[in-house]
Amino acid sequence: MDARFDWIAKRLKQFDGEGATRRLAPRQSQPGRMVIQSDGINMVNFGSNDYLGLAAEQSTQRPEHGSMGSGASALVTGFSPVALQLQQRLAKWEATESCVLFPSGFAANLGTISALAEAGDLILSDAANHASIIDGCRLSKAQRFVYPHNDTSAVAALLETHRRRFARVFIVTDSVFSMDGDFAPLETLCDLADRYDSILIADEAHGTGVFGDSGSGLCEHLGVKHRVPIRIGTLSKAIGAMGGFVVGPQVVTEYLVNRARSMIYSTALPPALVSAALANVIQIQEEPQRRAQLFELSQRLRDRVASKWRLPPMSTPGQIVPFVVGSNEEAVRASQRLADAGLFVPAIRPPTVPAGTARLRVSLSSSHSDEEIDRLAEALCGLR
Ligand code: PMP
Repeated sequence: MDARFDWIAKRLKQFDGEGATRRLAPRQSQPGRMVIQSDGINMVNFGSNDYLGLAAEQSTQRPEHGSMGSGASALVTGFSPVALQLQQRLAKWEATESCVLFPSGFAANLGTISALAEAGDLILSDAANHASIIDGCRLSKAQRFVYPHNDTSAVAALLETHRRRFARVFIVTDSVFSMDGDFAPLETLCDLADRYDSILIADEAHGTGVFGDSGSGLCEHLGVKHRVPIRIGTLSKAIGAMGGFVVGPQVVTEYLVNRARSMIYSTALPPALVSAALANVIQIQEEPQRRAQLFELSQRLRDRVASKWRLPPMSTPGQIVPFVVGSNEEAVRASQRLADAGLFVPAIRPPTVPAGTARLRVSLSSSHSDEEIDRLAEALCGLR
């Protein structure tokens, strides 16, 4: 082997020693079903973010309009009429003035935070925020404080102590946290943002399509849709396609089109993908029964494992259900036992979650059947 890469081989060996190596495994999904095939074996898929079953439906039922390449970045020639339509639809759904699409949710967080927060500004970021928020904060020239997860007293104390020293302050949080499925205390954060003249940014990646009467996200569910001025979303989870978006005041999206490098310098989303996303957004709005079914399945699973597992208490049982086992090895072993029973549940390990909290992360979809949920519950109880 090329000796210049010995240091990498050594690191990989170290990952192995920690039970922390990640490997790409080809997994074939089956159109229309929450089933994946791995090494020739079919498993019920509890690892996907296809919360409403729309990604699985796509390949069989959706006529795709437009090409699979956009040819250039949005500011050159890549911005299609259907992209404009989707932006308008998303802005209306989210009850904001404006929307701008990004190549992914990751790019939306990265580009938005790094464009808005400058030298002389302060960012307060939740300790459990997604990697793309963390990287957006790192890329910006602002000063950053990471506050303990959902600790609004810590946010208040930081604002009280530091607000005056900074030109602008941004509070950035996931709305629904990706690894625990718990909610950010958005109402209190809105109050604090108001009191300390700060700007709240919420990442609705796991909220869009799932929460709220119209399905627009957790901000709607918690009644703060008009109080969180900038919201970031992804087309890749409940919307079942791919891409990211930011909604907010017209001046903000206009500014992002001029300053967000991950949007300006990256090829625009292809029209076929955008039109599929648009069709799915319309379907989500027209079919609230998918969301209702998802919550029923989540409650069903929680009820059936309650005697064996302690889950974080939730005011509304969301679609992400964490089963914390502790060590990396235990999580991998538990995931393998479920796979042996025909159930795919990914083991999530540090650094994605804090050390010592490796877990099985169950993602539910409205397309799961009661019988599949019951099989999962029984297998999870069998681990105890
Ligand atoms: N934010 C959160 C909270 C996420 O969980 C994810 C996806 N894992 C993203 C942003 C990134 O979205 P995308 O997959 O569209 O890049």
